[in-house]
Amino acid sequence: MTVRTRVAPSPTGDPHVGTAYIALFNLAFARQHGGEFILRIEDTDQVRSTPESEQAILDSLRWLGVEWSEGPDVGGPHGPYRQSERREIYQQHVEILLERGHAFKCYRTTEELDAMRAQRQESGNSMALKPSDLILPADEIARREAAGEPFVIRMMVPEEGVCVVDDMLRGPIELDWSQVDAQVLMKSDGLPTYHLANVVDDHLMGITHVIRGEEWISSAPKHKLLYSYFDWVMPQLCHMPLLRNPDKSKLSKRKNPTSILFYERMGFMPEALLNYLGRMGWSMPDEREKFSSDEMFANFDIKRVSLGGPVFDMEKLRWLNSLWLRELDAETFAQRFAAWGLKKERLLPVIPHVQPRVETFSDVVPLAGHFLGGLTSLTPAQFDNKALDQEQLVTVLQYGLWQLEDIRHWSVDEIKTRMFALAGKMDIKVRDFLFPFFIAIAGTSATISVLDTMALLGPDMSRARVRHAIDVLGGVGKKKAKKMEKDYQDMVAAIAAAAQENPEA
Ligand code: GLU
Repeated sequence: MTVRTRVAPSPTGDPHVGTAYIALFNLAFARQHGGEFILRIEDTDQVRSTPESEQAILDSLRWLGVEWSEGPDVGGPHGPYRQSERREIYQQHVEILLERGHAFKCYRTTEELDAMRAQRQESGNSMALKPSDLILPADEIARREAAGEPFVIRMMVPEEGVCVVDDMLRGPIELDWSQVDAQVLMKSDGLPTYHLANVVDDHLMGITHVIRGEEWISSAPKHKLLYSYFDWVMPQLCHMPLLRNPDKSKLSKRKNPTSILFYERMGFMPEALLNYLGRMGWSMPDEREKFSSDEMFANFDIKRVSLGGPVFDMEKLRWLNSLWLRELDAETFAQRFAAWGLKKERLLPVIPHVQPRVETFSDVVPLAGHFLGGLTSLTPAQFDNKALDQEQLVTVLQYGLWQLEDIRHWSVDEIKTRMFALAGKMDIKVRDFLFPFFIAIAGTSATISVLDTMALLGPDMSRARVRHAIDVLGGVGKKKAKKMEKDYQDMVAAIAAAAQENPEA
């Protein structure tokens, strides 16, 4: 048997370091067994998936040096590798389940489902919604069908009992069927859900080992059941521990930059980032910290993964990166630095903002050096100004940060609309409102527009700099943050209401 592993990201946002981590371990496992590693795009969520996000995932994994032998961009014998192009395949498979009585059409309306859930909650019943709760009497089904009402297709699931799932790291895991609902397999628009598409594709693509994040453990019973409904052999499952923030909470962009693009922009070497991800829950037999991916693959053993949540700590990563940097000879350092910071793709978008403002090339770095910077060294004194006191500065930055964290399509227009609305609502002149952002992002207000700069720097770098500025100004204590968040939510609700009343504004 040829080992075949895969990474199956959903293109719904910035390329996440967690995706790279899972990809690396799948690649390592495949390499160790002389197998294949493939990449599949799981874009069944049509509302949230975007082609830009898919491209960014492919680009950033390539930048890291993670190579796949089959995928949407390179093709392969089991394609297409993008789920949105496999609609008919899922349709055929859902038909098989319906014919065999393993799935049913469910005509329940959202109101009915909400009412059932509310009733369960009221009576303290934590049982999941089961086929017996959902299947309508035959005449009612016929009536709704004749009326052309929308339906979804759900899977049959046992009412009770224990499901045992084998995990390569954990051994047998027992899960209770009472907690597993009659999962929707196909939505009313004819598109599959993750569960159906994932199982069908893993089977048809010959995947032998599924190595994925531990947040998917609770889905495993449904998947196991689907494999048995289809009479297919289930791949071996391996759930990796989740990456954590230094405070042990789940790695999230609210606390830590999570986008691979941020680490590229910060000037980390891809070799060092990959090395660091290889240290997440895994270690070399001789415990050395610095190793290349080839060295990792040569020594790989999935059994060495430890389940304690690995902490992704930027300070540690910086230290590891410094080891990699020190080893470059001067020539390579110069080359790699230029390829990182002075490459055309990075410079060109900045030029239109810089060119009209400089008289010599030597004016460029003082004006726009922050485009190459990371988390700039700031002091509270830099924020001094007449308009806002320290507390107001922190509030403005924190409210602004919450707005920036909310943006899904990062663009100068979106940033501007949100910042202007916030300034208006806080009754602060736009100039005064933007001043602390200038300092946070560029270290000075004598530079090009901070809104343009944020748009060009991208969401993670912009948010990280604002977060850093808040820390420099003394941060926000837990108690204070609670009150601030409440005031902020009220304000956001007011902005939303105003926008609805006057959509042109
Ligand atoms: N599309 C899922 C994700 O985004 C894949 C999970 C899996 O590997 O089964 O993580």
